[in-house]
Amino acid sequence: STAVAQARSTEVEEQLARDPGRFRVLTGDRPTGALHLGHLLATLDNRVRLQDAGVDVVLVVADYQVITDRDDAGDLPAVVREVVLDYLAAGIDPARSTVFTHSAVPALNQLLLPFLSLVSVAELERNPTVKAEAVDAERRQGRGMSGLLFTYPVHQAADILFCRANLVPVGQDQLPHLETTRTVARRFNQRYAPTTGYFPEPEALLTPSLTVLGDDGAKMSKSRGNALELRASEDETVRFFRRARTDSERHITYEPERRPEVANLLRIGAHLAGTTPGELADAVGAAGAGRLKTVVTEAVVEGLRPLRERRAALAADGPAVVRDVLARGNARANEIADRTLADVRELMGTMYS
Ligand code: ATP
Ligand code: MG
Repeated sequence: STAVAQARSTEVEEQLARDPGRFRVLTGDRPTGALHLGHLLATLDNRVRLQDAGVDVVLVVADYQVITDRDDAGDLPAVVREVVLDYLAAGIDPARSTVFTHSAVPALNQLLLPFLSLVSVAELERNPTVKAEAVDAERRQGRGMSGLLFTYPVHQAADILFCRANLVPVGQDQLPHLETTRTVARRFNQRYAPTTGYFPEPEALLTPSLTVLGDDGAKMSKSRGNALELRASEDETVRFFRRARTDSERHITYEPERRPEVANLLRIGAHLAGTTPGELADAVGAAGAGRLKTVVTEAVVEGLRPLRERRAALAADGPAVVRDVLARGNARANEIADRTLADVRELMGTMYS
C-alpha cells in the first residue's frame, strides 16, 4: 500500500544518508525527445543528488522501449545525443555514474527469456499502469495492447536486475512495475538460488508525485508540444511563462488542490530558487499573478543558466563528447550484464552452459 511504501521509503532515505555506498540505483529515460522542466523537477535533480551523495547511479537510455507506443522511433541517434547532453549539463558525471543505451547491451535482453518464465499472464493482466497505457495507445493510435507493452514490466525487471540494482526511484504509478521486478527476483532466487539468493529485491525510493504543467495547462510532455525544454533559450523561457496559466484571484497562495496552475508556477520557481512554494507564495502575496510570473521567469532563467552554459559548451565540443560517454557507459554495462548472464546460466544448471 501507499502508506507502507512511503514509510519504507523514508527508512531507505535514512540508510542512504548513513551508507550511500550500499546502494546501486537504476533509472533512466526513453529517448523520445530532449528533456524538459518536468524531468528536472521530478527525476533529474534527484539523480544528481544521489550521485553526489555517493550512490552508484546507472542510467539507461531506453532506446528499445521507444517502440512500445510508437511505430517510428524517429532520429534515434540525434535524440539520444540530446538526452545525454541533458544528463551531463544537469550534473551527471560519467566518471562516477554509468550512462548506457539499452540496445548496446545484448546480454541484458537475454535475461528476459528466463524472467518471462517466472510470471504468469494473469499477473501481467492485473498491472493497472499497463492497462492504463493500453487504453491510451488505443485512443491515440487505434491499437490495443501489444505483446511488448503487455510484457513491459518484465523488460523493466531485466533493466533493473541485470546490474543488480537495489534501489529504484519511482513515482506512485510505477509501483506496480517495481512489484513485478521484485517478484521476478524473488522467484528466481527461490527456484535457482534457494540457499544463497542471487538478485536483490530492489526497493522503491518514492519520488514526490508532482506533475509539472505545460503552457496549455496539461501535464508537460515531450509529445504534446507544451514543454519548456532544458535546452531552450532565455527568450523561449520568457515567452513560455508569459503564456503560462494562472487564475483570476489576486492574492497568491500555495493551494495545490484548489489552485493547480498557480501552485505549478510556485513549485517551479521554488525548485529553481532553492526555496519552498509556500515561502515563494508569501513573498509574492498581494503583488499578484503578474509579479508571480516575473519572479518565476527570473528564477528559471537564473537557475538554469549554469546548466545551459554547460550544455552549450558540451554541444560545441562536437559529437565526440557524447560518443565517449556512451562508449564508456556501454562497456561497463556490458561487463556487468555479461557477468550477470553467466551467473544466471550457471545457477539455472549445466543445460545452458
Ligand atoms: P512522452 O511524451 O514521450 O511520454 P514525457 O515528456 O511524458 O514523454 P516520459 O519519458 O514519459 O516524458 O517521462 C519519464 C518520467 O519523467 C516520468 O515517469 C516522470 O517521472 C517524469 N516526468 C515527465 N514529465 C513530467 C511532468 N510533466 N511532471 C512531472 N514529472 C514528469
Ligand atoms: Mg509520458
